[in-house]
Amino acid sequence: MRLSWDPESEAFRAEIAAFLDEHTPEQLRDGRDWIGEEADEVPGWARDWQALLFDSGWMIPAYPPELGGRNATPLQTLVYQEELAARGVPRSVHFGGYGIVGPSLLEFGNEEQRALAPAAIRGDTVWCVGMSEPDAGSDLGSLSTRAELDGDSFVVNGQKVWTSYAEWAERCFLYVRTDPSAPKHKGISVLILDMDTPGVEVRPLRHITGNAEFAEVFLVDAVVPRSNLVGELDNGWRITMGSLAHERGGLWLEGVGYAQRALDGLVTLVRDRGLAADPVVRRRIGELHEEVRSIRALGYKGFASFAQGSSAPEHSYMKLAASELRQRLNEFGMDLQGAYATVTDPELAAQGGRFQAAWQVSLAATIGGGTSEVQRNIVANRVLGLPRG
Ligand SMILES: Cc1cc2nc3c(=O)[nH]c(=O)nc-3n(C[C@H](O)[C@H](O)[C@H](O)COP(=O)(O)OP(=O)(O)OC[C@H]3O[C@@H](n4cnc5c(N)ncnc54)[C@H](O)[C@@H]3O)c2cc1C
Repeated sequence: MRLSWDPESEAFRAEIAAFLDEHTPEQLRDGRDWIGEEADEVPGWARDWQALLFDSGWMIPAYPPELGGRNATPLQTLVYQEELAARGVPRSVHFGGYGIVGPSLLEFGNEEQRALAPAAIRGDTVWCVGMSEPDAGSDLGSLSTRAELDGDSFVVNGQKVWTSYAEWAERCFLYVRTDPSAPKHKGISVLILDMDTPGVEVRPLRHITGNAEFAEVFLVDAVVPRSNLVGELDNGWRITMGSLAHERGGLWLEGVGYAQRALDGLVTLVRDRGLAADPVVRRRIGELHEEVRSIRALGYKGFASFAQGSSAPEHSYMKLAASELRQRLNEFGMDLQGAYATVTDPELAAQGGRFQAAWQVSLAATIGGGTSEVQRNIVANRVLGLPRG
């Protein structure tokens, strides 16, 4: 089967490709999985890049220009996502602001709060998202950080964990329990927390990569004005679903793009090491190639349903499939390096240590945004119709 695009989509692709060729920052051009910097602030080049995308209508193409877009159609959005994914170019080094907070403020905020969305999407304001807690991750409905109304303010006490970018963030989109007597999903609210509020303490957590992208956030009698409540009191659960609906049809492409780049790197590695005639290596490369092609085809099939307004059950599987495949691809890249498998020094490891670095990051990808086990439950229950475990 041969998939091809209509001339209008190809013209749109040429436009975004030319933009990326001209403007992609040097730091994002080497095709490695971007794993962040050891920095206590968002680097200037990353701020400039996000602002340029916004000002050029390439930040969220489906949005109107005042929100960093160009009113792109779903098909154009897919083409755009495909070009970014193929090059491994992220739009921002902090996903939460443009991916979760901006769209949620637009959908659920009042007029004053909606006015905060452009700066969140452009990256002028750095946001973090405070959902997970030590006893509430996959089961987010168990969160216990408490916000009690006291006159015109909430008084917040509790702890968040794995809060990405908390150290850099100026604001937090904070999930709190406002009615402990209600059934667990019904007593949750969302507050906008200024991170410099007295009583807020951030303690960085270091990844296996050595980078401290996320943190614990402790809240002790932190006072938040009632006007910072987003949406209705006790109705915050609805907001957990409110991110990037415009882009949902193609969000899977990022994972497929990572997988494709890892596979391309593997083929180069196999050639460089003179292993291209080895039957075991050839078979493994063939299998991995087939897997990458299959999940891409499944993603397109789901997109066709999405674009026609139907549900796309295939997409429930994509995050799970792409993140686990990415692990296997990078693991094979490490295996091929023999005793150097665990050497992360870019001078010594093959291709600057890309397989080692990407493998470390790929472990996080099977946890964040819903663990593989939880994704399997979703597929079993909602796609295959099996009873809940
Ligand atoms: C890189 C990264 C960035 C993150 N950024 C943020 C952020 O910015 N803000 C934020 O709030 N959170 C963030 N998280 C946290 C993330 O959302 C949680 O780690 C995730 O939801 C899992 O929760 P948990 O870590 O508490 O694990 P748990 O839910 O405690 O799970 C532990 C283990 O039990 C398994 N398990 C749990 N429930 C079930 C079940 N029902 N059936 C089968 N197995 C199950 C899980 O799969 C896992 O293996 C981030 C995580 C990562 C890795």
